[in-house]
Amino acid sequence: ALSVRDLTLDYGDLKVLKGVTFDVAAGEVLCVIGPSGSGKSTLLRCVAYLEDHFGGAIRVDGELLGRRERGGKVVPVRGAALRKVQGKVGMVFQHFNLWPHMSALRNVMEPLTVVKRMDREAARALAMENLAKVGVADKADAYPPRLSGGQQQRVAIARALAMQPRVMLFDEATSSLDPELVNEVLGVMRQLAEEGMTMLVVTHEMEFAKKVADRVIFMDGGVIAEEGPPAQLFDHPREARTRAFLSLID
Ligand code: ATP
Ligand code: MG
Repeated sequence: ALSVRDLTLDYGDLKVLKGVTFDVAAGEVLCVIGPSGSGKSTLLRCVAYLEDHFGGAIRVDGELLGRRERGGKVVPVRGAALRKVQGKVGMVFQHFNLWPHMSALRNVMEPLTVVKRMDREAARALAMENLAKVGVADKADAYPPRLSGGQQQRVAIARALAMQPRVMLFDEATSSLDPELVNEVLGVMRQLAEEGMTMLVVTHEMEFAKKVADRVIFMDGGVIAEEGPPAQLFDHPREARTRAFLSLID
């Protein structure tokens, strides 16, 4: 469902991604772990096309993201053709990024009416369906500042899901939640995984990665330092730097 080939990204002189290659098969959950500054968020931002100056290639369901091959050359794509591929990727952020002046329902409806140009009744029905799916239908009329962090994050997940993406990206989706609210969001993520959603998940929640991930990537210094099934990566890491990182967080 997702293929990333030799992805590079620089901020000025700083090389943040130095050639990252991996695939996520349909229905697979790939967790990304690694130290602060290793490029995990930047990787997700490229896949969501929130960064456009990357090198290499990202394909979603076989379609190149933000680029087009024409006569042996790769040229940028904008407008509707870009949005079509970009729309196949949904992203959930650490800080929810809901619009505070819109109700939960409006937060989910807005991209449906603006980006997908759905009519308001169809958008409302789809939004309600997704709010119900993540267990916050009763909060449809509430404004984000009146919701708990866990409720806000579930609204953000509903907003991404309502766009019917092929791949869902989660960047530290539980890191700004109070401890007692973490599980309600991890539970929703786990439910999505069990339903067969294709997911790329940056997380510090090692228990989640151990239980839910099909594969885990350990990133360090802008490269994939080690990759493997969770049982191998967590219990028998091959690389010294993976062992060093894991020993710090246990
Ligand atoms: P964390 O675990 O702390 O979230 P991360 O692995 O997600 O870390 P990134 O946010 O991807 O790391 O950052 C990787 C590097 O890129 C860091 O050195 C960071 O300072 C730098 N960086 C990120 N965004 C920008 C930007 N907009 N401009 C310049 N440098 C940036
Ligand atoms: Mg980050």
